[in-house]
Amino acid sequence: MRKIDVFDTTLRDGEQSAGINLNTAEKLEIAKQLERFNADVIEAGFPASSQGDFEAVKKIAQTVKGSIITGLARSVKSDIDTSWEALKYGEQPHIHIFLATSPIHMTHKLKKTPDQVVEIAVESVKHAKKKFPLVQWSAEDAFRSDPEFLIRVVKEVIKAGATTINLPDTVGYATPSEYGAMFRHLKENVPGIDRVKLSAHCHNDLGMAVANTIAAIENGADQVEGTINGLGERAGNAALEELAVALHIRKDKFTFGTDVKLDEIKRTSQLVSQLTGMAIQANKAVVGKNAFAHESGIHQDGMLKERTTYEIITPELIGENSTQLVLGKHSGRHAFKNRAIELGFELSDEKINEAFKNFKVLADKKKEISEDDLYVLLTDQQIQEEDVPVYELKSVQVQYGNGSIPTASVSVISPDGDLLQEASTGSGSVEAICNTLERLVKGTVHLLDYRVTSIGKGRDALGEAVVNMTYNGKSVTGRDVAQDVLEASAKAYLNAINRQLVNESKKSYAKTV
Ligand SMILES: [Zn+2]
Repeated sequence: MRKIDVFDTTLRDGEQSAGINLNTAEKLEIAKQLERFNADVIEAGFPASSQGDFEAVKKIAQTVKGSIITGLARSVKSDIDTSWEALKYGEQPHIHIFLATSPIHMTHKLKKTPDQVVEIAVESVKHAKKKFPLVQWSAEDAFRSDPEFLIRVVKEVIKAGATTINLPDTVGYATPSEYGAMFRHLKENVPGIDRVKLSAHCHNDLGMAVANTIAAIENGADQVEGTINGLGERAGNAALEELAVALHIRKDKFTFGTDVKLDEIKRTSQLVSQLTGMAIQANKAVVGKNAFAHESGIHQDGMLKERTTYEIITPELIGENSTQLVLGKHSGRHAFKNRAIELGFELSDEKINEAFKNFKVLADKKKEISEDDLYVLLTDQQIQEEDVPVYELKSVQVQYGNGSIPTASVSVISPDGDLLQEASTGSGSVEAICNTLERLVKGTVHLLDYRVTSIGKGRDALGEAVVNMTYNGKSVTGRDVAQDVLEASAKAYLNAINRQLVNESKKSYAKTV
């Protein structure tokens, strides 16, 4: 079986999607999970785009050793040099340089002639090669590029030392047969192409990202790029969990496969959804809530007689564990810590103690603590960033009656350490809380979107709130969980504000992207 490398770009292309902004601790947490998922390459960010991205990529390159860590760079020396400072800590330093090659992009965006584009591409690969053993070069908008020009530029960058050539369908325009044909054309016409790895990168604008990626493999691609839950610019990238499961389930047909640890899919997907605040659609393939739910009577009857009548994938394959965890209010710290270790968390004693305190509070309200609850509690501890002073919720109280105007009183500790209190009304309880908080925090808030979901199942499930807003003109998303949705909402609101305060404290030095 031919092995296909998996290049995960959840932290770069995925993080680029509207409304997502992850801090360093969250990115590190996702990167560590991607390592367990067994991604061959993790694109950890775009180091030259901001100080925050630089720090996150550096931290991931220093920490994650089981996957190759890469970062995106424009075809300019300063980007490549900055990337080196972040990526040099990796076991095998890898850089991903891109340059547009389609007539539309070259004329309107780059304002360069094809000859100039070849020259810039070759120069940047040569410059990168002085430092990086692994250089991936991407022809941005490759699919809409002139095939003969593509052959020319790819031939030159291979000569300059590129080790991987990526041919993206940047705008998600290709059909499977066309995208596959592009790979075959290059395979047949570029001298030296067998020395490098060919990579596919597809967007899902027409819903064909995964199908296009498979067509590329069938025509010579050895690496596939994508994201968890299909996150990414616009309609997103190819969903890696779908790709890995499709190749596995249809191994009767395909002569290639990935080394992805399929039983880590569920957890990886949940973690990414939790930290990005991007909910997974219920009917999404492989990881949606309903992906294994059989609703119609005929289907259910069939399932009871023989599972394979309607089931091609089992929940167990992707690590969906139906056994409930037996931790309750009488469980001790020792049992809690053991469980955390079993679940793969590495927390300091201080953080374990903090998580245990939260666990006890929750166990008082909820009889059985599920594995989903534990993941949330422990992940929340893992991603605490303590260096910048932020707002902290002290108390929230809401008065509601269907005949009266909802009123909220809230107290918070400000970043300066002062106790602030306010009360305000709203047309609903959540609005009353938001109006009160808006008065309490310094700066201008404009709420864009608000969503509450439950974590796990059951009437006493944890509530998760996601708040999307602009704060001082910058779009930011906040999220938090609590047993009560109103408390979760208040905490999510402050979480958004706090994220922006942390962002503002880190100066952005991106010129243009
Ligand atoms: Zn992309």
